[in-house]
Formats: sequence, structure tokens, C-alpha cells
Amino acid sequence: ETPAKVIDGKSVAKQIRDEINAEVARMKDAIGIVPGLAVILVGDRKDSATYVRNKKKACDSVGINSFEVRLPEDSTEQEVLKFISGFNDDSSVHGILVQLPLPPHMHEQNILNAVSIEKDVDGFHPLNIGRLAMRGRDPLFVPCTPKGCIELLHRYGVPIKGKRAVVIGRSNIVGMPAALLLQREDATISIVHSRTKNPEEITRQADIIISAVGQPNMVRGSWIKPGAVIIDVGINPVEDEKSPRGYRLVGDVCYEEASQIASAITPVPGGVGPMTIAMLLSNTLVSAKRVHNFQ
Ligand code: NDP
Repeated sequence: ETPAKVIDGKSVAKQIRDEINAEVARMKDAIGIVPGLAVILVGDRKDSATYVRNKKKACDSVGINSFEVRLPEDSTEQEVLKFISGFNDDSSVHGILVQLPLPPHMHEQNILNAVSIEKDVDGFHPLNIGRLAMRGRDPLFVPCTPKGCIELLHRYGVPIKGKRAVVIGRSNIVGMPAALLLQREDATISIVHSRTKNPEEITRQADIIISAVGQPNMVRGSWIKPGAVIIDVGINPVEDEKSPRGYRLVGDVCYEEASQIASAITPVPGGVGPMTIAMLLSNTLVSAKRVHNFQ
């Protein structure tokens, strides 16, 4: 058996960032507009702070302006809404991102609803999700992680139309929109979640598997149809004494087993992770182009 081809998200993401960089420069030269992304971070979760820092760095690397607001954990919903409304009205801001999760005393729904759908680069506004689900409608933005998964399939020439696809996980930010996107691409989809009976049997029918669960090594070799393509979204820390940090990151899919059976697979790290930020930059660029009618 030949081991699976590695789907190299890191290098695809780099390529996409180079493309964005060139477009940002072209737009600035032509009409003097620089795309801008505003990021709102509430509280002091370490992981969220890291994500926000990485997003800022990524913006810098392609020439997109970034604006950051940090609010204390005990801020009120009103304070967050005030900043969103300011960014909604600010023409130098083309994308607004509220880093999730929000502190427990805030209503995520109220806050995500307040982001103008024209600036909803995370694609989490219910109007954008609703349009994603409807035939004949188009969302202004698609959530970044699932969009990155589909982009990897496209760039590796994986056919989707008419294929059987299984999405494991049904979260609002990954699993659900990933399933909707695959359906829009004419795959036949099944969604596996924590109450699914015989997940292994269902998953084994898939030509394409997208896994977004958060359980290390849950998907074993026996779950996989020979030749299937696997996109592993999971990022799970597992103890590792040999690592200086004391842990390492693994996906939802048991890579050693899967890579002997699948035809192609994303590694963790270096698969979907870098694509997520590349798609955020892409959405911000698209937003700026759209509002300034720049092709
Ligand atoms: P959530 O916890 O929101 O959702 C997990 C989903 O998996 C739920 O739908 C849940 O089912 C399902 N699930 C849980 N346990 C099982 C099980 N034993 N069998 C089948 N399904 C199960 O997670 P997210 O979607 O936010 O994230 C999923 C993973 O992706 C995480 O590891 C996260 O770190 C990673 N991630 C990676 C990103 C990237 O950029 N690469 C971005 C975002 C997330 P139910 O609905 O029934 O509860």
C-alpha cells in the first residue's frame, strides 16, 4: 500500500497569502484603498490572545491594516456593541471579527447579530449562514475554517460533485457550515455527531471526510474507505514528555493508521490551521473590493 499524499495546508496558505499580498498592492496603487480588519477581544483567555496576535501578524504580512480592541473580562455587552457599531460606521474597516468565545455573561447572539453583514468576515451572522443554506442565495462571506477545507480540496484537484462526504461534528463555526458548503458543491452529505449510532460504519462510506470534533485520534483506520480524502480540522493537545512544552497537537484522525488507507490527508499541525487565517485575509480583501467596486 502506498501512503497517502500529504495535503500541505501550510504551503497552500502561503501561496494564497502571496496572492492576497499582490492584490492588496494592486488595489492600493489603483484606487488608494487599503483593506482593514478590526478585531475585538474580550477578556484574557490565553488561547484567544494568541489567535488575535496571529491574525494581526498575518494582516501585517499581506499589507492589510488591522485595528485591535481589547476589553476587560467584566465589560458589559453594551460596551462591546458600542465598538461594533463604531466599526460598522468606519469606512476604513472592511471586516469585523469578534474573537470567540465571549465571557459567559454575554450573549453571543446579540453581539454577532450586531456586526454589519457587509463586514461579517467570519461569516457567522445568521443572515450569511441562512443564505449559505438556501438554494439560489449567496452569502456575502463563508466561515473561514470550512472555507479553508474546501479550498484545500479544490487546490488538490479532489472532485466533490456526486461524491459521498461525511462531516464529523456539527458546530456552528465548523461542522455545520462545512456540510452546507459540501452540499453546495453537489456532494451527498452525512453529518455524524455525538448522538450518532455507528459513526464508524457511516464514516466508512465516505469519499471525503471532514472531521471537526475535538477528540484526539478518534477516527481510526477501520473508519476509512480505501482511497478516501481526509481533512482533519481537530486541534487537540495530548501529553508528550519529549516535547519541551509537555504536550503536542494531534488531529481527530489517527494519522499513522489513516495515512496507510486514505489517498490524501491533512497533517495536524500544518493542514487546516494555516488555511483558516488565509481565508480570513481573503474575506477581508473581498469585502474591501466589493465595497469599492474594484475588480
Ligand atoms: P465543538 O466542541 O463546538 O463541536 C464539536 C462537535 O463534535 C459537536 O458537534 C459534537 O457533537 C461532536 N462530537 C463530540 N464528540 C463526538 C464523538 N465522540 N463522536 C462524534 N461527534 C462528536 O468544536 P468545534 O467545531 O469548535 O471544533 C472542533 C475541533 O476543531 C476542535 O479540536 C478545535 O480545536 C478545532 N478547530 C480548528 C480550527 C482550525 O483553524 N484548524 C478552527 C476551529 C476549530 P454534538 O453536536 O452532538 O455535541
